[in-house]
Amino acid sequence: MNTQNDWICPNLSANERNHLCLAGEDVADLAKRYGTPLYLMDEARIRNRAQTYRTAAEQAFGSDSRILYASKAASFKRLYEIMRDEGIGVDVVSCGEIATACLAGYPMGNAFFHSNNKTDADIAYAMDRGVGFFVADNAEELYAIDSEAEQRQIKQKVLLRLTPGIDPHTYEAVSTGKVDSKFGFATQTGQADAAIMLALSLPHVQLVGYHCHIGSQVFDATVYLQTLEVMLRYTATVKKKLGFEPKLLDIGGGFGVRYTSNDPEVDIAANIAAIGRRLDQLCSELKLTKPEICMEPGRSMVADAGMTIYTVGSVKDIPGYRTYVSVDGGMTDNARVALYGASYTVLPADKMNEDRTLTVTVAGRCCESGDILQRNVLLPQSVRRGDLLAMLTTGAYHYSMASNYNRIPRPPIVMVGCGAPYLAVRRETYDDLTALDQ
Ligand SMILES: *Cc1c(COP(=O)(O)O)cnc(C)c1O
Repeated sequence: MNTQNDWICPNLSANERNHLCLAGEDVADLAKRYGTPLYLMDEARIRNRAQTYRTAAEQAFGSDSRILYASKAASFKRLYEIMRDEGIGVDVVSCGEIATACLAGYPMGNAFFHSNNKTDADIAYAMDRGVGFFVADNAEELYAIDSEAEQRQIKQKVLLRLTPGIDPHTYEAVSTGKVDSKFGFATQTGQADAAIMLALSLPHVQLVGYHCHIGSQVFDATVYLQTLEVMLRYTATVKKKLGFEPKLLDIGGGFGVRYTSNDPEVDIAANIAAIGRRLDQLCSELKLTKPEICMEPGRSMVADAGMTIYTVGSVKDIPGYRTYVSVDGGMTDNARVALYGASYTVLPADKMNEDRTLTVTVAGRCCESGDILQRNVLLPQSVRRGDLLAMLTTGAYHYSMASNYNRIPRPPIVMVGCGAPYLAVRRETYDDLTALDQ
């Protein structure tokens, strides 16, 4: 086998036909059977991640802790079924996600409803489907939750989204920076205090906890330890001032994943253990009752379970400039490169034995010059029309961000890793695309 393969995730391998495999399944066979572009997801990897998080959280925080899957990372029916089986809660941010979870028979009492702008209709819809927890982002929303709950004669469990003023990229608590956010109530401006007083005063709101989320692709536990410290010190201040102590503390998501071999691997269990130790220290120092801890990973639950398979169309060499390899997908199935210039690993899925000495730019098929899937990709000199390319680590924020730009149908999702491969989401048809046109 080829020594140029630096597998960034243990579910990757190559077989004797020199084809790339995901969870042992030959991706060229899957491409033939289901067509391209094709999203693959390794169910075993997702279940393994879910179990790693749950076990680590139980050990570090206790059996009343919760792991919530931030389902905006990848939202389709089968995933909610898997999370239900694994005893994982879910974060939802829209009625569409709520409807999908309901379709999966997900127990909605374990769902947490986020978003910085829940309309009255959203709030009503979520309450009617029994969403357990609302994470309130602003005062208008608190009033609206109270009013909808009153109409239903219930007391709605609510957490407040707080912004602790931590910049995840400098690992420092700052007085501005992340205080300036469209999300939540800042702890440093008095707005969080006011929100707590408001929530406590509303008869149909039951304030159960605080929530915070500092960012994404965070590789260092330091950020979480700092967040925990800011949140617990704040909790202690509020307890002194207002006599209120929350039952739940949600410390957010955001652990990083490996898109390329330059990204470090996060030891999830070790990080959670470190957070657990700091939690115990801080609670005893500050004389707080240990809260029930929630963590809400999205990306790190599903990203490296995923892969996208494309077929090469043209190979265009512009002498003295570069070689463009165009594929049958693009920004419609991968918005992250166009949005953030994200880096990925791209492999020649059916030529894994050949030396990769040709530097190319992999281009998408959309009518937009910014539709570049990846620059500086090394491929075999023999690359040509009909070859397969695999883009790795596409399980998070790909299908969920996919669009129909250029009226391109969205790819299907095929699950591998737990028995025979099966279709979780079918390919969109041209009839699907035109179904809404009157
Ligand atoms: C997006 C999001 C997450 C998940 O972030 P990841 O980087 O995908 O782990 C968790 N909590 C909230 C509130 C979010 O908005």
